[in-house]
Amino acid sequence: MELIYEIGKKGRRGSTLPAFDVPEATAITGELMRKESAELPEVSELDGIRHFTKLSKLNIGLDSNFYPLGSCTMKYNPKINERVASLPGFAELHPLWPQLRHGGALTQGALEVIYKTERMLSDILGFAQCTMQPLAGAHGELTGVMIIAAYHRSRNDRERRIMLIPDAAHGTNPASAAVAGFEIRQVNSDKNGNVDMAALREALDSNVAGLMLTSPNTLGLFDSNVKEICRLVHEVGGLVYCDGANMNAILGRLRPGDLGFDVMHVNLHKTFSTPHGGGGPGSGPVGVSQALVPYLPISRVAKRTDGSYALDYDYPASIGYIAPFYGNFGIILRAYAYILTLGKKGLIRVSQNALLNANYVRVKLAPYFKQAYDRYCMHECVLTAEDQSKKGVRAIDIAKGLLDRGFHPPTIYFPLIVHEALMVEPTETESKETLDKFIEAMIEIAKLSETNPEEVVKCPVKMPIQRLDEAMAARKLNLRA
Ligand SMILES: *Cc1c(COP(=O)(O)O)cnc(C)c1O
Repeated sequence: MELIYEIGKKGRRGSTLPAFDVPEATAITGELMRKESAELPEVSELDGIRHFTKLSKLNIGLDSNFYPLGSCTMKYNPKINERVASLPGFAELHPLWPQLRHGGALTQGALEVIYKTERMLSDILGFAQCTMQPLAGAHGELTGVMIIAAYHRSRNDRERRIMLIPDAAHGTNPASAAVAGFEIRQVNSDKNGNVDMAALREALDSNVAGLMLTSPNTLGLFDSNVKEICRLVHEVGGLVYCDGANMNAILGRLRPGDLGFDVMHVNLHKTFSTPHGGGGPGSGPVGVSQALVPYLPISRVAKRTDGSYALDYDYPASIGYIAPFYGNFGIILRAYAYILTLGKKGLIRVSQNALLNANYVRVKLAPYFKQAYDRYCMHECVLTAEDQSKKGVRAIDIAKGLLDRGFHPPTIYFPLIVHEALMVEPTETESKETLDKFIEAMIEIAKLSETNPEEVVKCPVKMPIQRLDEAMAARKLNLRA
């Protein structure tokens, strides 16, 4: 591909700047510059547009391809939500604008959105109150475990250093608990993909601060012992955290707060429709039961008796600040629009169809790929390339083979407890026709792995870039190659 760095011509311009309305300042002086000149390409607007359009077409994205990246919920994000988020009154919001001004206010609308989203979310999750502040799922986890720590501290219960975490958990769970100062004690899964109840009983003692459980879990399974798990942890004085990244599976039909969880996060960018990937942006509100409300972070949006909204900071038991101002407001706004658009019935259909699609893919592919667990799944199914690997075709090869066939690969090699895992999350927004095409491609790769495995391991052959040394590519990134 021709690169913009190579097509520049000195003096060519892609912009027309208005005349200065401030005094012209001296250019940055030589000693502050790494080089004499920044060597930026000088191109026309058209050159610039072609460059970025070409780059965008190299990407396999949701708007062009099926994207069953398990655990990430790459569902279609309705464009109307982008329109809402770009309305000038919201998009140009400044965090330091006053909350109230001349009776009306510049920020009242935004505060109302945060307040109402928080109320709806608390209702959907089954908790007394949420904080809308955390800026990602992992940030929500950290907030949640800090709340657990604050709860025990407030009771002068200082020996509780242990956070229990099942072996199927997302890596952010132990990381968040460790950052909050906890020691991690792993609890293994049983042969059905549930928490091993004997191992859990063994792990429980008076040093346990809590348990972080993903529900449904990262194997795409609903642990039927959830209520008993919560009861057992409570019995020894611990609290139960729900990693709600998989909320798409139960939306509108089951509320984690009703199951016995004390605190949970939900990833708005996954479940409530914000385009995401590549590390951001995100929003991970945390819901808590009544007993934990005092510890929620500040600020919180409160509704005054006169009907106006304001940021409130006066909560002495709070864990304090975890993010500035309104959190990731644009994402909260998209969630607000999404929830209002779908309504209660719509949210129920989201989770029903997410389950239907995942089980359809699972059953259709079962004759070709070994299932990690042979049972109904929730919103995603975990297959394995164990059979194919005997022929030298591994999960990563299947992923590359899918790229050649026009599909974003599923998540591979996660959860860690499944060998050669292929974690497929179709989401509710895909049609049966799309699923059938994906299934067809998977079956073709499975058959090719039997008859001609060399063909699969050399994939991708149709992509702009073929096999990379992935470790070197990450360490010595060359954006010009
Ligand atoms: C995505 C995910 C997280 C982390 O969420 P981020 O928003 O990416 O920080 C945590 N747990 C599970 C199970 C996830 O799928």
